[in-house]
Amino acid sequence: MNPRFLPARRRLIAAGLSAFASATATAEAASPAPGASASSSGATPATGARADRIAPARAASALRHAPAAHVVIVGGGFAGGACARWLKRLAPALDITLVEPRASFVTGPMSNALLAGIARPAAVTHGPAALAAEGIRVVAQAATAIDPAALAVTLADGRVLRADRLVVAPGIAPRFGGIDGLDETTTDLMPHGWLGGAQFELLRRRFADLRDGATVVIGAPQNPYRCPPGPYERASLMAWALARRMRQFRIVIADAKDDFTKRRLFQLAWDERHPGHIEWIARAAGGEVTGVDARAGEVRLANGERLRADLACIVPPQRAAAIAAAADLTDASGWCPVDPADFRSQRHAGVHVLGDAAIAQPMPKSAFSAVSQARLCAAAIAAELAGAPAPEPRLVNTCYSLVAPDAAISVSAVYGVANRQVNVVSEGQSELAAGADVRAAEAQAAWAVYAGLVGASFGG
Ligand SMILES: Cc1cc2nc3c(=O)[nH]c(=O)nc-3n(C[C@H](O)[C@H](O)[C@H](O)COP(=O)(O)OP(=O)(O)OC[C@H]3O[C@@H](n4cnc5c(N)ncnc54)[C@H](O)[C@@H]3O)c2cc1C
Repeated sequence: MNPRFLPARRRLIAAGLSAFASATATAEAASPAPGASASSSGATPATGARADRIAPARAASALRHAPAAHVVIVGGGFAGGACARWLKRLAPALDITLVEPRASFVTGPMSNALLAGIARPAAVTHGPAALAAEGIRVVAQAATAIDPAALAVTLADGRVLRADRLVVAPGIAPRFGGIDGLDETTTDLMPHGWLGGAQFELLRRRFADLRDGATVVIGAPQNPYRCPPGPYERASLMAWALARRMRQFRIVIADAKDDFTKRRLFQLAWDERHPGHIEWIARAAGGEVTGVDARAGEVRLANGERLRADLACIVPPQRAAAIAAAADLTDASGWCPVDPADFRSQRHAGVHVLGDAAIAQPMPKSAFSAVSQARLCAAAIAAELAGAPAPEPRLVNTCYSLVAPDAAISVSAVYGVANRQVNVVSEGQSELAAGADVRAAEAQAAWAVYAGLVGASFGG
């Protein structure tokens, strides 16, 4: 790692992580260490008394002597996996069930690198199956219903799981209806691949088949949506890959927004690396996608323009995944309101909602945010069960975007919580004037952070 790599921002992230560590330390102190012998002195009930008056040692004893609690987590992606692993570490005696139908999947992070041929499929394909070896029960099924009052989860095979604490982390779903002609039946013709799976494979094949002179249209939605820099990283890496295969190509980003995260950094990279090849049309210039003819490959913009695309990736507006809405955890926005102090649902207090499904602005919907929220939530649940003080809420996010295999840009922030709102404590982003060595160091850091996220959520 380059020693000159953004020292101020490294300090910022380190500060955020250590603040987070101290926030969870109380819960760790209150939970029994693996193999520790049980003490019978001073068992304290986990309910009734004010948690912040209970000493950690007594709380640890309380957890050991309390009836074994069952925590059920629905969704084994970044948030659910990290929550299960962190809970098991804080409170090894807990009975934890993780409900996730997919054994493994191409992760959102680094999926654009796979698309561009920079990463191999195995390097960016992960899942929660290995968590069984850590003492977490992994149920390879979908939850078909959640009763948020009874804390009961119905599985696809009809079995019902009953929980003492319930965590819901199901990610996102497309919200069709806003773009004329784009719906469940046509989205595969203009594949976004935002959920991995078969559609991502389709997108990969279509991208690999492009010929010289190709036009690619990327439709970027209004906020909030999964991975705010995702469409712009995709344009950067597609351009890098196409420039190796052909002389002429055009990438148009049709945007429902007038600004986007790291915009000046992305645009500088595009001007330097692919002048004239990537065009961004802002909402103010009529860039919003209003309709498509998916079979004809036509994309219609608010300014009346009709773009003929050899490949269109229209990222639709989004909402929390269907199970969250069915469980009455969403509000009119389609997302799940929570108290970010512990990510408890504002609609059903016995349920915690994590990751992209939760409303946690100004935190972006990222895997890094999801893991940070999961650790806070796990610490809060462990502390509550132990009768220990609730952890001080500290959250952190870093989003790296590759603009080439050997160049990345990033944004980071540390967050606090006040009055049920997340607020920014400190933030920073890559310097515009940085040289190639700094961008290369950031690309290395991007892969290191990715490995950290995968480890936090899926172990191995
Ligand atoms: C192109 C792209 C690039 C990205 N790049 C980055 C990046 O560089 N860095 C970063 O931090 N983030 C990045 N992200 C964002 C990241 O992928 C998400 O923010 C992250 O996956 C959110 O985690 P989650 O646990 O909320 O959702 P997910 O990881 O999607 O997990 C949700 C899980 O719930 C499961 N589920 C859904 N319904 C049910 C049900 N009924 N029963 C049981 N299980 C269910 C799903 O199968 C899924 O596995 C990127 C995303 C995309 C699309």
